[in-house]
Amino acid sequence: MTDRLAGKVALVTGGARGQGAAESELFAAEGAIVILADVLDEEGERTAGSIEGAEYQHLDVSSEEEWDTVVGGIVSRHGRFDVLVNNAGILKTGRLINVTRADWDRTLAVNETGVFLGMRAAGRAMIAAGNGGSIVNTSSVGGMEGMFGSMAYGATKWAVRGMTKSAAKELARYNIRVNSIHPGMIDTEMLTQTGIDDRERAIKRVPLQRIGVPMDIARTALFLATDASSYCTGQEFVVDGGVHG
Ligand code: NAD
Repeated sequence: MTDRLAGKVALVTGGARGQGAAESELFAAEGAIVILADVLDEEGERTAGSIEGAEYQHLDVSSEEEWDTVVGGIVSRHGRFDVLVNNAGILKTGRLINVTRADWDRTLAVNETGVFLGMRAAGRAMIAAGNGGSIVNTSSVGGMEGMFGSMAYGATKWAVRGMTKSAAKELARYNIRVNSIHPGMIDTEMLTQTGIDDRERAIKRVPLQRIGVPMDIARTALFLATDASSYCTGQEFVVDGGVHG
């Protein structure tokens, strides 16, 4: 590793498992102090315990109060705030004609309002610290095209892509960059939740001929978190093995 994040403080939401855990692991290996936050406290503590340079914080991203507490705590403990990865997300499947209001509301609260609250809290803290920063939002290939069978989820991932572009324009003057990652099929709990039953058939649609792994996304997040992407902001980065080419 090359210490590409030495001296930086990074918060990864949904860091207890899956892509967020891989991002936390890679950022810490690159020298960052990583705060991984989640609602799965036991799993989050365990994941943080296995990563040198990581600490766990409880954060339900849909809660305005919890964002204030967590970001305020990070700034007072570490004196800076450099990178936010808005990774936490939920998937509730359901077609337009079946989706319940409760599932719609909760999906928006976590996947969309959570990203707004995170960008707002991070933007304020980064501006106050005066060191610039990078915000990486997790959308989906579902934010690039229509989705069949996940109406609420698709709506939020389009919103994340749009909010990313607006925030990028507003925060650029503070040297805070904002970009979105659009994963395709990545092997996590969420992929299992989609009910994918025939993996071999699914892989046939992927030019790179495999399902992605969390580290594929972590490496893209690292690129966006560091100066390697210093002139990129407001952009979408599709990481899907070449499906949407
Ligand atoms: P995952 O389900 O393993 O991880 C999601 C994490 O978010 C979990 O640890 C979960 O506890 C946490 N979380 C859920 N609600 C939360 C809340 N209110 N506050 C804080 N944390 C919360 O799935 P994953 O694949 O690692 O998902 C990471 C991100 O990638 C999500 O935003 C997801 O929508 C996106 N994504 C995943 C895929 C895929 O194929 N796996 C594809 C496209 C996009």
